[in-house]
Amino acid sequence: MISKKDVVIIGAGAAGLMCAIEAGKRGRSVLVIERSEKIGKKILISGGGRCNFTNRSVTFQNFISENPHFCKSALSRFTPQDFITLVEKHGIPYHEKKLGQLFCDTSSTEIIHLLEKECQAAHVEIITSADVLKILKNNCFEIGTNQGNFESQSLVIATGGLSIPKMGATAFGYEMAKQFGLPIVECNPALVPFTWSKKDAETFGSLAGISFPARVRFGNQSFYEDILITHKGLSGPAILQISSYWQHGAPVYVDLLPEKNILETFIKGRNSGLELSVVLAQYLPKRFIQKWWEQMVPEKFSGPCSDKELKEILDRIHSWPIIPSGTEGYDKAEVTSGGVHTTEFSSTTLESKKVKGLFFIGEVMDVTGHLGGYNFQWAWSSGFAAGQFV
Ligand SMILES: Cc1cc2nc3c(=O)[nH]c(=O)nc-3n(C[C@H](O)[C@H](O)[C@H](O)COP(=O)(O)OP(=O)(O)OC[C@H]3O[C@@H](n4cnc5c(N)ncnc54)[C@H](O)[C@@H]3O)c2cc1C
Repeated sequence: MISKKDVVIIGAGAAGLMCAIEAGKRGRSVLVIERSEKIGKKILISGGGRCNFTNRSVTFQNFISENPHFCKSALSRFTPQDFITLVEKHGIPYHEKKLGQLFCDTSSTEIIHLLEKECQAAHVEIITSADVLKILKNNCFEIGTNQGNFESQSLVIATGGLSIPKMGATAFGYEMAKQFGLPIVECNPALVPFTWSKKDAETFGSLAGISFPARVRFGNQSFYEDILITHKGLSGPAILQISSYWQHGAPVYVDLLPEKNILETFIKGRNSGLELSVVLAQYLPKRFIQKWWEQMVPEKFSGPCSDKELKEILDRIHSWPIIPSGTEGYDKAEVTSGGVHTTEFSSTTLESKKVKGLFFIGEVMDVTGHLGGYNFQWAWSSGFAAGQFV
């Protein structure tokens, strides 16, 4: 038997559920098909269990995409304030941690409950532990699953990216794009820790746990936040942010003393016979500076340095080149960069220009947010936008 729906949404994550709620509110009959046994698993683990559900300040510049303007329309129609209003309507306590990042006070489960309640109110049907076996398009979409066959006028793909496979991530969305002849921008793990080269691992690997603020740069992008040394490499917000831009084999540059000019302090230190690594230890963790000095400052600088040599050392402090051997991959990546190319989609409706009735929303699209609540905001906004048209 075939069950008929107005809208079938594949994936009960942030984007799929938001789309379901909005479509349901319009009186559309909506079915959400989820492969995992539970909905919103990524919401649950997000933000260290407290879900950084949005950011107070969101612009298109917080996103990476082949078409950086694509996200503007959806973001302007469902803003961070709209999601905050929803959070407040459900009485969920929240706080701003830093840089506009909003987190639940208690647990990300509260965001799942919010979505569940809104789905119920909008008469959305959800099936879990469901495998989609085939999708065909004739006059309408035909969706075959292990829990029955469905037909719908609109089909929404909201299956997310490739990160954290053990949370249920699949390449389903990209395979669907291929099936319908839609182009894909190469996918890569993003918001992900770097791994050391062999040489750097020998020097810095023993310093795991040390953290300090730094500016990390790749090309014309840079982020000034904490970096964290791990056993395997480098992590911390500044590193996660730059990882979304990094290209394999290229160096990233770390400014260890951003916005500080310590040449005068260096000169004074030298004039009073202090070791320069001791002077530096006033600004940076001592154990780190000892290792960094060993690797980055050649023997010839061991005696008293000229002013020119001091400047040379400072240049290295402000621009320490690191070539990571790679990243920790999809197992540790918060998101996937790249995805289904936006060029074949309307930025207003998120509908394919080529395949009528087919919508892609959320992380599966080539729209990747910075760290700080932007990825959820894209999921809410793109889900909301599509929900008005499905
Ligand atoms: C550890 C971690 C922490 C994060 N923290 C934050 C944060 O605090 N703030 C923030 O903004 N972003 C955060 N993110 C990113 C954020 O979780 C995602 O960008 C967001 O969840 C994307 O929403 P989505 O609905 O597009 O995809 P998802 O939330 O990934 O949902 C996709 C859904 O589709 C289902 N699915 C996949 N394949 C199939 C299939 N074949 N059939 C049926 N269902 C399928 C999946 O099981 C999943 O439920 C974090 C990510 C991780 C991994």
